[in-house]
Amino acid sequence: MDRPKKEPITLKQSQDSKLCLNCGFPNRNTDPQCMYCRSSLIEDSGLFNWIRQTYYILRWRWQLKQKRDNLEESKTPVYRSFGFFIIGVVLSGVGIFVFTTAMSQNSFSSGLIALLLIGYGVVTLKTLFSNK
Ligand SMILES: [Zn+2]
Repeated sequence: MDRPKKEPITLKQSQDSKLCLNCGFPNRNTDPQCMYCRSSLIEDSGLFNWIRQTYYILRWRWQLKQKRDNLEESKTPVYRSFGFFIIGVVLSGVGIFVFTTAMSQNSFSSGLIALLLIGYGVVTLKTLFSNK
């Protein structure tokens, strides 16, 4: 007689709410705009609407990624900058060493490689210190 109808309730609940594409707030299907951020929820199947939805989804994902990156950076800032510092110093050091050898041997190609190494080292150190 009074068997609980589980299925229709859950289905109805999920169908009644519509996630806002801008902020992810669950709104009622009947709402014309988001209760939280006031962006339009009216869906019409057109190219413009598709572009708008894609834009919102991409922006949302990008924001999530930014947050995740920030968390990762704050977790290991010392370790990372130390690694970059070592790489920069080693590259510059090897570059200077190769450069002096190239100068004594009058080797043009070795000199170019050395300049490249020094360049990489300087760029690595520069990005390290500009991040701070
Ligand atoms: Zn919203």
